[in-house]
Amino acid sequence: MAKIFCIANQKGGVGKTTTTVNLAAGLAKVGQRVLMIDLDPQGNATMGSGIDKRQLETTVYDVLLESSSVAEARVKSESCGYDVLGANRELAGAEVEMVALDRREKRLRTALAAVGAEYDFILIDCPPSLSLLTLNGLCAAHGVIVPMQCEYFALEGLTDLVNTIKQVHANLNKNLQIIGLLRVMFDPRITLQQQVSEQLKAHFGDKVFDTVIPRNVRLAEAPSYGLPGVVFDPAARGSQAFVAFAQELVTKMLPASAFAPSAPAAPAPIDLPATLQGADGGLQP
Ligand code: ATP
Ligand code: MG
Repeated sequence: MAKIFCIANQKGGVGKTTTTVNLAAGLAKVGQRVLMIDLDPQGNATMGSGIDKRQLETTVYDVLLESSSVAEARVKSESCGYDVLGANRELAGAEVEMVALDRREKRLRTALAAVGAEYDFILIDCPPSLSLLTLNGLCAAHGVIVPMQCEYFALEGLTDLVNTIKQVHANLNKNLQIIGLLRVMFDPRITLQQQVSEQLKAHFGDKVFDTVIPRNVRLAEAPSYGLPGVVFDPAARGSQAFVAFAQELVTKMLPASAFAPSAPAAPAPIDLPATLQGADGGLQP
C-alpha cells in the first residue's frame, strides 16, 4: 500500500510545491510509483507537472465532492513519470461547499482507499493555510513532510503546524506522524541560515532530514517550462539534492518500524526550543 505524505507548512512561499513536484519526480526516477495530488486552488503543482490546469475536466474538487473517483480524475504526466490528481481555481469553492457535508474532513482519505495499492507513494501538496483542504490532506496521510527555510520566523510558524498535527492525530487520524523537517532554499553563505540549520538538527535530531535542498535558480526556472527541476535540468545542484532526498525517504521508509499502519504509533515527539513553544506549554504528544 502507498505511503501517503502531505507536504505542509501554513507559511506561504516556503517551497511546498517545489518540494512536492521534485520529490515526486525524484521518487519516479528511483523506480517508485507515484501519485501527486494538488490540494491548492493555485494549481501550481499541477502546472509544474506539465498539466494545464485550465484544460482539466475533472480535478481533486470533483473527488472531494464525490462526483468523480480518483481513478477517473487523475491524469498521467508523461514528461514527469508520475500521475497527477490536479487542481484549479474551482477548488477554492470546495471549502465552502463541503462545510455542510458529512465526513467533510475525511473525503480525500475515503477516495484514496481505492487506489492505494497502485502506488508506492502518494504526495499531497497543501495550500498555505490550516484550512479544510489541508485538513483533508492531514486526515488522508500517514505522515507530514515540512519544508522550511532556515530562519527564525520559520521556527515560530512550526508551533502552529505541530499543534494542528497533534490535534488531527488525537481526534481524526491516529496514523499521522511527522516524517521530518526538510531544510530548503538553503544558502550556506548566510551565517544565520547555518546557525538555524544547526539548531534544527540539535533540537529535532533525526526528525530533520539529512538532505539539504540548496537555493538554486534552476529549481525556480523549471515551473515556467511546466517541469520539476529534476526533469528540467537533472544535473543542477538543486535537482540532484531532490533525487538524494527521494532516496533518503525511500531508505527511511524501509524498516517496518518506520511505517506501521496496523499498529498506529503516536507521532514521535517533536519538541521546540522553550522560547518557541506556544501557550499550550509544550509539544510532546
Ligand atoms: P505557496 O505557499 O504559495 O503554495 P510554496 O510553499 O508552495 O508557496 P513554492 O511555490 O514551492 O512555495 O516556492 C516559492 C518560490 O520559491 C517559487 O518561486 C519557487 O520557484 C522558489 N523556490 C522554491 N525552492 C527553491 C530553491 N530551492 N531555490 C530557488 N528557488 C526556489
Ligand atoms: Mg504551493
